[in-house]
Formats: sequence, structure tokens, C-alpha cells
Amino acid sequence: MKTSIATVSISGNLVEKLEAIAAAGFDGIEIFEQDFIAHDGNPREVGDLIRSMGLDITLFQPFRDFEGLPDPLRAKAFDRAERKFDLMQELGTDLVLICSSCHPEALGGIDRAAEDFQVLGERAAKRGLRVGFEALAWGRHVNDHRDAWEIVRRADHANVGLVLDSFHTLARKIDPETIRRIPGDKIFFVQLADAPQITMDLLYWSRHFRNMPGEGDLPVTDFMRAVMATGYSGPISLEIFNDQFRGGPAKAIAKDGYRSLVALMDDVYRAEPATVTDPTPMPQRARITGTSFVEFATRGDDADTLESMLTTLGFQESGTHIAKKLAVWTQGDIRIVVNHEEVGYAASAYHMHGTTVCDIGISVDAAQAAVLRAQHLGAEPFRQPTGPGELDIPAIRGLSGSVLHFIDDTSGLSDVWQVEFTQNPTMGPDAGLKRIDHLAQTMSYDEMLSWSLFYTTLFQMRKSPMVDVVDPDGLVRSQALEAPDGTFRITLNGAETHRTMAGHFLADSFGASVQHIALASDDIFATSTALLARGFEPLPMSDNYYADLVARFDLDAALLDRLKAGNILYDEDSNGAFFQFYSRPYAGGMFFEIVERRGGYTGYGAPNAPFRIAAQKRLMRQKGMPKQ
Ligand code: MG
Ligand code: MG
Repeated sequence: MKTSIATVSISGNLVEKLEAIAAAGFDGIEIFEQDFIAHDGNPREVGDLIRSMGLDITLFQPFRDFEGLPDPLRAKAFDRAERKFDLMQELGTDLVLICSSCHPEALGGIDRAAEDFQVLGERAAKRGLRVGFEALAWGRHVNDHRDAWEIVRRADHANVGLVLDSFHTLARKIDPETIRRIPGDKIFFVQLADAPQITMDLLYWSRHFRNMPGEGDLPVTDFMRAVMATGYSGPISLEIFNDQFRGGPAKAIAKDGYRSLVALMDDVYRAEPATVTDPTPMPQRARITGTSFVEFATRGDDADTLESMLTTLGFQESGTHIAKKLAVWTQGDIRIVVNHEEVGYAASAYHMHGTTVCDIGISVDAAQAAVLRAQHLGAEPFRQPTGPGELDIPAIRGLSGSVLHFIDDTSGLSDVWQVEFTQNPTMGPDAGLKRIDHLAQTMSYDEMLSWSLFYTTLFQMRKSPMVDVVDPDGLVRSQALEAPDGTFRITLNGAETHRTMAGHFLADSFGASVQHIALASDDIFATSTALLARGFEPLPMSDNYYADLVARFDLDAALLDRLKAGNILYDEDSNGAFFQFYSRPYAGGMFFEIVERRGGYTGYGAPNAPFRIAAQKRLMRQKGMPKQ
């Protein structure tokens, strides 16, 4: 597979774009003409610069408003094309993208357009160049790849072919299966983009909201399967117009693009192996079987605060590490590692963020394979020196400097707790917390797509629709990702302003990621009683909240009293009921959540989030903490 990306997809000046694209691992670029014009350097120098970075120019684009023009406009269009051919030869590329005309004077008619392309193909052939025709979803007469193909077919010239763009086909809900009928050697180029499913003007949607395959809602995999079934063997290129990406970090967005392409082609290969001749030899998405551990970096008084919080939550220190300053606190199947080390990764995480979740251990079917897949997707392996008697647990760097470890049973890694920790023999009764229900990560809104792409390309996880959570001081977008059987759930919370609770946490912790950990009980009332007896202080909820609950749901008085007594929040969906209560914020805005799901409730209590946030802010103000 030859990977490519349009320069318009990445932020920065031309050199910054090229550096980011080359570093991410792409083989080539589509040069977007505006990026060339804005650059101060002649075409030969630009071509040499691109090639010196190990990149090919796979395509020159766009050439607009060519076909169907009456004279003298038609003659002028051919003159313009000749000038672009000169430029292409100097740059060193042989293929130009011509998008279907939007010119107000362009005339329709398949044969008229075909004749124009036949003539242009002849002129291009004289210079050894090729012409590709793309149907824009909003083209004046041609807005469907089937019509563009018919024009190319009738032009019947070896130097004229079709350019397919997943956005233009899928945004108009044209069945991608229709592509299978096109001969692969007549498809000269394939551009890919996804997009969120929103109803708006096609041109506006395309120019501002495209995103990487897998980041949106369009069936890009079906599109690409149909393309590969034709025998197409040319470049697979990203063409992403996105306001956020234009202003985003070039290197990170180029890496996302590369990750999305590799994962997409792996999906195509797994669905139709015969169509992909050079598959990337990578393991399939890792299957998650649970959260093995969550590790906090902490120190001194901060550690005391965390450990007393864990104690009131019913956790007990069940083991201490044979060599390092770390202890494991357990309850049910939950393991929380408290790391007091003064050197190494956890120590630097503590210096950067204060008390923070520095590491997440994920139980998977095959740990080594998960790392291998992550590396193929552009992630970096993470290594720390291991001491005598310690297991070498495979790990990678996640986004924003986070670390993920992978634990499995098959290679003995899940024995680490027996091998590396001395056991505390005197464990008392617990408070009924059984497992981690979900981890909630907070990030700036701009980073949400990167995180969801990271998880969904690496693991078997599905996305839930994004929901808006109203903070008194702004909006937070929330997106849940889940392993199919609920063994691992993550909510991504994107803050748009620092005044929100989530945004303040980000600012205060210098970009820490996990803001809350939700722990599941099978009997929330018993757990609430057990925690109160241990001195746990729940987040106090307002009487107004409970008055509103009665109006929203058919709850009996006894249940309402129990909810109130425990400051427990309530929600329902069509499957079942959800109970949740919260700890008070600690360590710069982190908190714990206790939940019980009944009858297959699938959500996260999103309708309650505004009231939870308001309660947290009220508490922080009462304590004289800085107003957010
Ligand atoms: Mg396009
Ligand atoms: Mg939650």
C-alpha cells in the first residue's frame, strides 16, 4: 500500500506540513495548489524538497471548472490546463485532479464532457501526464462517481481516469458497491475522508467537518472494500478539510492520519483478504478482558490524602513491591497501585501533574500482540529498566505522554501480583466494590478525536454517540468507548474552556488525563452504608435535585429517601436503572464515582452530570478554593 495525504489536511507552512507528513510515515503527498503558491520557492525546488524528505508527489490538485464550457471559455480552460501541465512537470508529478465543474456557464451532457476529456487526455499524453476526473458532491452537472465514470469511459483515453473520493460518494449516500463494477486500472487515484453525520449544506460539510477514516460516521471501510475489489493498486490518500485540524498540532494530526489509514486497510484486508496484495502483517485489534490496574503517582502529604480516600472507599493495602516504593490496594477485582518512587516515569508524572493516574494496566487476550499492533499504528513502545525478579510487562506510550501496560494470562504476566509483591495476610472485610466500571479521561476538545481513534484502532471497542454535558461555565462534550461485553469502558470528556470543571482540572494538573474512576458495586445502598461507616464523605447533592427526580421518574417515597440519605443520583434508560454517587474532589479536581447498573443500563448518568458538576463547584467555593 502506498500511503499519501493532501497537504491541505495538515496545519502550518509547506515545510512544516511536509516534515509532519514524512515523520508520520506517509509515502507521498497530494500537493494542494494553494500550499505551493503560498510557498516562496520555484516548482523545481519544491519538488526536490519534497523528494528529499522521502516523499513522492502523488497528485497535483485541484484543477477546477474544466469540462462542458462553451467557447471561448473552453479554449481558455485548455490554455489553463497547459500551464498547469508545465507546473506539474517542473514539480515532478504526472497526475492532476480535475474536479467536476461548478462554473455557471458549464453545459451538461455526458458526451460533451467526454469529448473535452478525450482532447485533454491527448494533450496530457504528449507530455507523459495523466488526468483524473472527480465528481464533487455539489458539481453543477456531475455530482456522482457513476456519471464521472461514464464520462471517463466514453473519453476512452489511456491517460484519462477516475478519481474517487469517499466523502463525495458517501455524503450523498451513493451505494459504494457501485464502485465494484469499475475496472481498477481506470481508477487513477483514491481519496479518503470520513465525517460526522450532520445535516448541512454538502459543500460546507465537506470543507469544514471532514475527518480521518474511523473518526466519523461514514461507511469508509465499505467504500474502500469496493475500491480494492476492482484491483486498484494506486495510492490511498487522505484529503481532510477540517477547521480543527487546520489549527491543530501538525505532527499529531499527521500521526492520526497514518494510524487511521493503516487500521482501515487492515480492516479491508480482514474482510476481503484477496483484494489486498500487500497487507501490513499486524495482529488484529486486541480483545480487552478487563482493567488490570490503575496506577497513581503520588508523594508525601498528597499520598496521605489519596491513601485515606482509598481507605474510606474500603480499599486495603494488599501487597508491597519487592524492590520499588509501590503498593497495591485492592477490593473485589479492582487493583489500585500507589507509586511513591522518586525516580523514573511515575516520578516525572508526579512532578508534572501532582497526584495523577500515570499508568493504566489493561488485561488483553495477547499482550505482546497488542504492542505489535500499536507499533504498526505508530505508537511508541514504553520501556523502564526491570530489576531482578521483575516481569517485563509490555507497554506503550498512549497520547499526551500517558502509558498503557498490557497484561495477559497466556504469557504469565497476570502473575505479577504474586511474583513482584509481598502479600498482606491480614485483609479485613471490604465495602462491596467489585470492579472498575469506567475510567473518565479529560482532554481539550481538540484532542478528543485523536483519543477515540487511538482506542478504537488498537482495541475491539465501539463508540457511543457524543453527548453534551452542561457545566455552569461552559459545555463539555462526552464520548463513551466500550469493549463489546462492557469489560472496559472509557469516557472521553472534551473541555472547550478552562472555566469548566473539566477544563480547570486540565489547567490545574497541566494536562493530566484520568479525572475520575468509577467503581461498580452490586448493591449500592449496602456500599453507601459501608463507606459512610468508614468516614467516606460523599459529594452532597441539593434537595432540588431530588424534588426534580420525583417529577422525572416514578420513584416510591422509600427509595427516594434512601437515595437522599446516600446522596445517590438516579437515572433510567429503556434497559434498566442506574445509581451513582461521588466522592468529593481531591488532588486538583480528581474524584471517585460509585455506580450500580441494574437490568442492562448502558449509559453513564449523563443527565445527572450538570448537577454533579454544580455540586462540585459549590463545594469548592465553600472551601474557599479558587473560583473556576
Ligand atoms: Mg477530493
Ligand atoms: Mg462517570
